[in-house]
Amino acid sequence: MIPFLDLKKINEPYETVFQEKLKLVLDNGWYILGKEVETFEKAFAEYCQTQYCIGVGNGFDALVLIFKGYIQLGKLQKGDEVIVPANTYIASILAILQADLVPVLVEPKLETYNINPDLIREKITLKTKAVLAVHLYGQLAEMDKITEIAIENDLIIVEDAAQSHGAKTNSNNLKFQIPNFDDSKNDNLKSKINNLKSAIAYSFYPGKNLGCLGDGGAITTNDSELAKVLFSLRNYGSEKKYFNEYIGVNSRLDELQAAFLNAKLPNLDADNEKRRIVAKRYLSEIKSDKIILPFWDFSTNHVFHLFVIRTSKRDHLQAYLAQNNIQTVIHYPVPPHKQKAFLEWNALFYPITEKIHDEILSLPMSPVLTEDEISFIVDVLNQY
Ligand SMILES: *Cc1c(COP(=O)(O)O)cnc(C)c1O
Repeated sequence: MIPFLDLKKINEPYETVFQEKLKLVLDNGWYILGKEVETFEKAFAEYCQTQYCIGVGNGFDALVLIFKGYIQLGKLQKGDEVIVPANTYIASILAILQADLVPVLVEPKLETYNINPDLIREKITLKTKAVLAVHLYGQLAEMDKITEIAIENDLIIVEDAAQSHGAKTNSNNLKFQIPNFDDSKNDNLKSKINNLKSAIAYSFYPGKNLGCLGDGGAITTNDSELAKVLFSLRNYGSEKKYFNEYIGVNSRLDELQAAFLNAKLPNLDADNEKRRIVAKRYLSEIKSDKIILPFWDFSTNHVFHLFVIRTSKRDHLQAYLAQNNIQTVIHYPVPPHKQKAFLEWNALFYPITEKIHDEILSLPMSPVLTEDEISFIVDVLNQY
């Protein structure tokens, strides 16, 4: 059986170093917000080329805390609308609701599965105050266009990077986003760019491109005001023990998980490169008129958290692959607006989102997939 994702195999090479890290934490006798968390925050901020990194309990909390942080700073208010792709993992939408904000769903592009920037403007109202871009399956959303819309409309940019660790260019690096940033003669534009608020949420759930051995998450940002609030919000709204400035939560990155992440982070780029090599083989070797391969123009930074194909008879293809000992998964079978939890949205019609959910199938994808396994999967698919 070729498993969809062999997490045991991914973590096995770290067994010795994990044991050393466990011993280190035991020897330090410090289990919450200690040296390992601090080291990881520094290392991950540097890796992401961003000023601040705040370790938190999981990816969902990372998103919620960004919104709560901006509410604390008075940049967002309860009831404000947040643009979000209709096609995403439910966590993106739940995080908006958890912060008492209102999600406004926008259709994706069928080719990229990511939010269609051309459809954002028509959804903007006086209450729209933020856009949550999701880099689904490891492919960056069209941040240049999204940033332009955000600047025009004074929107905060939040990125859900739970599936895209290591994909370069993001709103923390506006100089990459906006050509002519430095020599822009337009002072108004320049000040709008300088005032743009943004932050990025990461998850280190075990199956992500950078995963720990439990739950973990982080926020990166260049916004020093936000960072200051977040360091406090994640820890009961308190910077100094037993003195509470904000109504905070308990969402800290575990010291032990941070220690494991410190061991794995140096290999993230190499792991992502291995994923791209798998993707390149799939893209060049799968030849079937029944299968639509994912879009990747090689210039965009794709870290292939998932390799998601489309086919009109998806369940049939999935059963065929299972018979041939190839495990696949559907990410995701029910679109958020069709979930029971959102009864009030069930009658809404998002045809592209619905088509995607009806047709997609995720092939095995990981840095530990072998050449032979890839060849086998390609052969089985080409005989379909
Ligand atoms: C995994 C994931 C999350 C949530 O991360 P957790 O660590 O599980 O809370 C949020 N958004 C997306 C797109 C994800 O894939």
